Amino acid sequence: MRVQRLTVLGATGSIGVSTLDVVARHPQRFEVVALTGYRQLAVLADQCRRFKPRYAVVGSLADAEKLAATLRAEGLLIEVLAGPEALCQVAVLPEVDAVMAAIVGAAGLPPTLAAVSAGKRVLLANKEALVIAGSIFMNEVKRAGATLLPIDSEHNAVFQSMPAGFSGDFARHGVSRILLTASGGPFRNTPLAQLENVTPEQACAHPNWSMGRKISVDSATMMNKGLEVIEARWLFNATPEQIEVVIHPQSVIHSLVQYVDGSVMAQLGNPDMRTPIAHALAYPERIEAGVAPLDLFSVAQLNFERPDLDRFPCLALAYRALKAGGNAPAVLNAANEIAVEAFLDRRLPFGKIAAVIAATMDAIPVVAADDLTAVLAADAAARIAALALLPQA
Ligand code: NAD
Ligand code: MG
Repeated sequence: MRVQRLTVLGATGSIGVSTLDVVARHPQRFEVVALTGYRQLAVLADQCRRFKPRYAVVGSLADAEKLAATLRAEGLLIEVLAGPEALCQVAVLPEVDAVMAAIVGAAGLPPTLAAVSAGKRVLLANKEALVIAGSIFMNEVKRAGATLLPIDSEHNAVFQSMPAGFSGDFARHGVSRILLTASGGPFRNTPLAQLENVTPEQACAHPNWSMGRKISVDSATMMNKGLEVIEARWLFNATPEQIEVVIHPQSVIHSLVQYVDGSVMAQLGNPDMRTPIAHALAYPERIEAGVAPLDLFSVAQLNFERPDLDRFPCLALAYRALKAGGNAPAVLNAANEIAVEAFLDRRLPFGKIAAVIAATMDAIPVVAADDLTAVLAADAAARIAALALLPQA
């Protein structure tokens, strides 16, 4: 077995930490070449001690100097770099086989796309990158011969439930629909009147999954599922009508694929991201991930509901962006990033997140966005428009 050499973008986050947990269980299989973190220097320093990469990347030059001094004092020969360019640099290193894309938000787009363009095996957790630049991404995957493996639990489940060698042609493979499951988040049953002013702590207390703060808020608004519908559109070449969202509060069925003959294939498991991470890291082989075996007797019940678009207007906004196409998904995503950050900073009530996104989408005309420059321009314009819509302090 040849050792697989890895770059982990966003190593200090929730997905990054779970990735390194799986990697550490298989030292003969994986070697870490580069780790990146933004501001969490202590976590990154600790990861550097354990995995001894050749490169570490942080957000600022000042932090790079601090981390380099710490590592040097301990006799560790690790090159410490800083900034967005350095992220791209470690994503395309010739000695790297696979890149875990686990930076949160649009900041992850340039290095993730760079890894694709370099023909790497790309393990995609950073759904925002695919949402805002879907067609560019998929064209680059084809052109460069890259392999894109989904880490998002739903998309990983769909990938596992699709026929082997699925080409994106639903009719040829007899696939009729993708059923994307959603837990419904912490506010599935909260009275609508109370939703307006829930706190960041309440929004981040997900009933089934432990995740970073931004995706936790996205799960509470169900924008996460909206982004995932767009992500599924690109990963599996599905039309909006071929993707249905199903609320499944137990988060045991991670998603399903329906076939024309009436068969439905699903992937089940405990809600632990180490399962899709291990699946993608070892694909097409299977490796141990440290995840407890699923105990169906303690699960006992699997329930399903239709999503309520009045309760979750962000889901409807995502469908609107998907159908509009062009720059609309980039605008949706950027406005959401601004609104969620403002909510987490207590500058915007939870109940106003959707309104900020909708008003941003109303303000920016839909135009084609066929290259990275156009996508990044839409992202920047939407951030300015959304910021102007926030309550003034
Ligand atoms: P997180 O907030 O825990 O970690 C984010 C990582 O990105 C950190 O390493 C941070 O240092 C880095 N980062 C943040 N801003 C950056 C910037 N401007 N430049 C460079 N690096 C930056 O987030 P997470 O929960 O691990 O999620 C990461 C991605 O994976 C997101 O796109 C999320 O939607 C997706 N995802 C996460 C989960 C989950 O269970 N956590 C599940 C499915 C998909
Ligand atoms: Mg998901």
